[in-house]
Order: sequence, then C-alpha cells, then structure tokens
Amino acid sequence: MHAYMTPSAGTPLPVQDAHGRWLNSLRISVTDRCNLRCRYCMPEEDYVWLPRGSILHFEEIARLVQVFTTLGVTKVRLTGGEPLLRHDLPTLVTQLKANHRIRDLAITTNGVMLARHAAALKAAGLDRVTVSLDTLQPDRFKRFSGRARFTDVIEGIEAVRAAGFRRTKVNAVIVRGFNEDELVDLLEFGRERRLEVRFIEYMDVGGATQWSPADVVPRAEILERLDAHYGGTTPLPDPSDGRAPAERFALPNATTFGIIASTTRPFCGMCGRARLTADGMWFMCLYADRGVDLRDLLRSGASDDEIAAKLGAAWQKRTDRGAEDRLTSADRGPLYQLDRLRQDPHREMHTRGG
Ligand code: SAM
Ligand code: SF4
Ligand code: SF4
Repeated sequence: MHAYMTPSAGTPLPVQDAHGRWLNSLRISVTDRCNLRCRYCMPEEDYVWLPRGSILHFEEIARLVQVFTTLGVTKVRLTGGEPLLRHDLPTLVTQLKANHRIRDLAITTNGVMLARHAAALKAAGLDRVTVSLDTLQPDRFKRFSGRARFTDVIEGIEAVRAAGFRRTKVNAVIVRGFNEDELVDLLEFGRERRLEVRFIEYMDVGGATQWSPADVVPRAEILERLDAHYGGTTPLPDPSDGRAPAERFALPNATTFGIIASTTRPFCGMCGRARLTADGMWFMCLYADRGVDLRDLLRSGASDDEIAAKLGAAWQKRTDRGAEDRLTSADRGPLYQLDRLRQDPHREMHTRGG
C-alpha cells in the first residue's frame, strides 16, 4: 500500500482501508444528551456525560467535515444522542451545506422536537430526515422510551412532510416481546404517509446492557411474518452495491421497506462509515474500542493538510469488521456492562451516534 499523500490545493483524494473499503460516510453525534431513554440504547436514567467544554463548536465540526470530504466523504448524517437538543442546529446545517462535496446531508432524530424545528432545518438546506419510531401504541412508547412523548413524534413526522422534505424514512428497532407484532401496522403507517419504514435488528452495541440473543427478531423472521400477511416480499436491486446498510424489499402492493440486519447478516464488507463524537473522537467502527482524538489535533493548531494526513493514514490501517466479529463470538451477550460504560462514555451508542 502507498503512503498517504495529503490532498494538495483541495483536490479530493479518496482513501481506502486495509480491506479496500472507501471512506465515504460520516455520522456526527452533535450531542450525547437525549430526551428519551429507549431501553435498547439508554436504559439508565442518568449517565456520565461528556464535559461541556469538550464539545466541538459548529465551526470546528464544519472544518473537520471539510477535511473529511477531501478524503472521499460525500454523505453526512447528524445524529446523537438526540441531535435536536443541540441548540441552533440549523446553523450547523447551513455551514455544512456550504460544502459542495457533501451530496447527502441527513439527520436521524427521535422526532420529539421535530415539529418545532422541521421548517428551519429545511430552510437551512437539510436534504433528508429519518425519524426513529418503534411503536404506534402510546402506552408502549412510554414503557419503552421512558417518556410520554408519542404524540410529539407523530406531530414531528407531520411537520417533516409539511416542511417539504422528501424520501423521509422511519427506523424501527424490533425487539422480541415488545413490538414484533407491529410490523404490519408500522408498514401501513408508512404507506399512508409515503414514508419508507426500515426494520432494524436489535444490536448488542455499547449501551444495550439488556441485550440478549433471544430478544433479537432476525431478518428472516421479519420477512416470514410480512410474507404471511401480504403474500410475498420481493428483494429490490441495490444501487449502492452493498454500501447502504438497509436491504430493500417491495410488497405485492408496491410498498417498499428496508431491513437493517446488522446482527444476523452484518454488512461490514463494503462499510465506509465513520463516526465523530460531539467531543471530536473519531471512531472507524460502531464497535471499535478506541478512537482517534481529533479535538486535540484541531485545538493544537494543526493545518488542514496535517489533519487530512492523520485521517488518511489511520483509515488506510483500518481493519474493523465489528459486527462480523460479534457474530462469531462465543457466548454472545451485551458488548459492555454498566461499569465499563461508566469508565468511558465514548463506548455508549448515544455518544458515538447510531
Ligand atoms: N436519538 C436519535 C434517534 O433515536 O433517532 C438519534 C440517535 S440513535 C442512537 C440512532 C439510531 O440508533 C436510532 O434509530 C435507534 O433506534 C438506533 N439504535 C439505538 N440503539 C440500538 C440498538 N441497541 N440496536 C439497534 N438500533 C439501535
Ligand atoms: Fe432512543 Fe435515540 Fe435517545 Fe438512544 S439516542 S435513547 S435511540 S432516542
Ligand atoms: Fe461498519 Fe463496523 Fe458497522 Fe461493520 S460493524 S458495518 S465495519 S461500522
């Protein structure tokens, strides 16, 4: 492999890792805070939070993203924690939108505060919205997320449509004994509103301290249940050649939906996704135990070329295949117990960004 050269004069220089995977997507966790307590992500009421002084300013995020885009990143997703808790998020969207190498700028949100912010996000130039919604039953929502905010989420979804967003998606994590009986209801909810629903297998990520293999509803079962109800599901061609996490399917009535089978059929083979935490740690895999501290680099006065060289060299060494490794691990259980999460909050899914 060649040594990494910095992109002189702003010429993009895409970079491949040790398995030939291009760096193409960046998920930015803009805050580790959240206004819900989903059982599969933040089952505790209180957490060790990132110190406020360590959180990157918008200008710092935009600068790092600018460097990432010289290495091939074209897709950027704002996430968290709950990204809409970050004050004045549309300002960050405007700053990122000024970067013409970003072809797709999206957000993943729990929707609780969307009704208030959808129009401003659209005006700032955000391309797409994904709302996480696991159940259509208000009492279940409260039981599973710890907060009675179901109506706010539904109003948020309506506001997204009213603001003029297209290609909006709904993400639903399917957990045994909680919502596997709502697959059809969720699909019908999406169909009526022209939203594509994606069913996500329950993952043993940091934060999912209650995870057990028995609680995973596998892709195969999701398809069986939908087949039985609708009389067939047809796989759709994948224009991303395996880079997108969701496999897409169509029902006989032409409704399309996705399944993200991270647990039973991981898709590490083509993965070019990296994650940036709100305090500037860069993780090259959702499951990686260690990240690269970019905040120190930024604040110590490094030039864009120096940052690019560090990112490029680190990506070239990347060998992560976290979800595939988990699949082959014996006695699979939660990735971390609470004490290890408390030692380093960067291990949490809500810090790292889903
Ligand atoms: N708070 C925002 C939200 O919920 O949309 C953004 C952050 S959240 C960590 C991003 C996504 O990760 C959500 O769609 C959530 O359902 C998913 N997620 C969290 N924990 C998960 C787990 N254990 N297994 C599968 N998906 C999970
Ligand atoms: Fe739920 Fe998202 Fe908050 Fe995690 S970060 S608790 S998935 S709303
Ligand atoms: Fe990519 Fe890591 Fe997820 Fe595999 S586990 S798809 S390498 S982020």
